[in-house]
Amino acid sequence: METMIAKCGIDCAQCDAYKATIEDSDELRVKTAQQWSKMFGHQIDPITINCMGCQSQETLFSHCQVCGIRSCANEKGLTTCADCPDYGCEKVQQIWNHDGKIKENLERLRA
Ligand code: SF4
Ligand code: SF4
Repeated sequence: METMIAKCGIDCAQCDAYKATIEDSDELRVKTAQQWSKMFGHQIDPITINCMGCQSQETLFSHCQVCGIRSCANEKGLTTCADCPDYGCEKVQQIWNHDGKIKENLERLRA
């Protein structure tokens, strides 16, 4: 089964954009857009809350489409940063600093 762990270690299965997409819930799209508009500091339209996870080649939320960690891992042909020789680089540490669980997910893949 394809992993739901993002390149950086985020568990996309727990992400509200993913949940709103698989449940096709407009209520959750609105709630998520409100929360993320505050978090990112600009208005996010609920209709853009559609994502099948970082490993998806098709349906991906706009911010994650332009994610530097995702493109870096893709360029190296890696499923996640867990397999990278430069594991723990400055770029990925920035996102780990938001939530310790993100790094733990990659540590589990490395074990
Ligand atoms: S790739 Fe999609 S599911 Fe994963 S964190 Fe980004 S928005 Fe959420
Ligand atoms: S260099 Fe950093 S961001 Fe790029 S794949 Fe390796 S760990 Fe991930």
